[in-house]
Amino acid sequence: MTVETITLGCRLNFAEAQTIARTAPAGEDWIVVNSCAVTNEAVRQTRQAIRHAHRRRPSARILVTGCAAELDANAFEAMPEVSRVVGNASKLNAFAANDVMPPVPAGLMHKVKSFVAIQTGCDHRCTFCSIWQARGPSVSLPFEAVRDAVSRELDRGAKEIILTGVDITDYAGGLGSLCQRLLAAEPRLHRLRLSSLDSIEIDEPLFELIAGEPRLMPHFHLSLQAGDDLILKRMKRRHSRADAVRTVARIKAARSDASIGADLIAGFPTETEDMASNSLKLLDDCDIVAAHIFPFSPRPNTPAARMPQVRHEEVKARASRLREAAAERRSRWLDSLIGTVQPVLIEGHGTGHSDNFAPITIEGAVRGESRSARITRRDSDHLGAVWA
Ligand code: SF4
Repeated sequence: MTVETITLGCRLNFAEAQTIARTAPAGEDWIVVNSCAVTNEAVRQTRQAIRHAHRRRPSARILVTGCAAELDANAFEAMPEVSRVVGNASKLNAFAANDVMPPVPAGLMHKVKSFVAIQTGCDHRCTFCSIWQARGPSVSLPFEAVRDAVSRELDRGAKEIILTGVDITDYAGGLGSLCQRLLAAEPRLHRLRLSSLDSIEIDEPLFELIAGEPRLMPHFHLSLQAGDDLILKRMKRRHSRADAVRTVARIKAARSDASIGADLIAGFPTETEDMASNSLKLLDDCDIVAAHIFPFSPRPNTPAARMPQVRHEEVKARASRLREAAAERRSRWLDSLIGTVQPVLIEGHGTGHSDNFAPITIEGAVRGESRSARITRRDSDHLGAVWA
């Protein structure tokens, strides 16, 4: 009997859910729900996913863990569909003895790419965020454990490794040097990708890799959150608008084919029209082609929840304005790739991503294939290509 996993939220949650499922007792029917608390909407979706899973498979027992379960265990324990609630600290040993050393979270997606956790928790206190409350202080996994987890994932058939965590640029000893050591230790590691980065924490060894290491994939997702200095200050972010622009310019100078993604929050408390348009302009100034836009919603027990709020309608309007502008930029970027040759990894039935993370379709291409392709056309958010 295979254990079903339902993951809300980040890739760290995905890696953890897969790892928990691997340790489930044989013959038992469980659904593991790894919940998310990054927004109120994520918590709502978690509850909905639990109800839906129970309706679909009423005989399976449901184990709920993750950030939403950590922050409000009682609410999930009260749900009649739920059999067990496990906090973040003991989730990896949910089915094992708690005194056993937990495994490094790692999860293979589509049998092609694997998310490997290198770190969890966060030492910062962004005023909108409750994740640090749910996951505690920053803890880095030892290099040897990460190296062994990467090797295991490659043994399982992973063609690409994505390093993940809550604040991976805070990795003890430096993210750049971790990547350098991993690439040196594992010659089979041909494709290394990084999940979300705090731009101000990108260290010199990582910039060196960006400039000179083709095995590091040239797509960088930055946790920028806003493009206005006063809002960034009220968020307690540690970078300024100019820092963000400078970091992107440095990445692009080092690697001209690099593409940039970013998280942005629309309608943070006290945000004026002018401040909102500074965030809008950041899309251009940081050449953002993959934006995740979050309409602000106050999380309980956070300083931002106590600040003067922007009207709900206004938050929604600013989020959709940002989304439209981001979609338009993304279209232009995808169009600019037509006629170029891009290295591609096929992840599903004829679909995959280029190294700089454009979604690609190649008719008849087989999962796991990885080589250069000529981009021939754009179909909405996908690029059509043929092998070069
Ligand atoms: S860096 Fe800020 S937003 Fe990210 S997890 Fe830490 S407190 Fe939350």
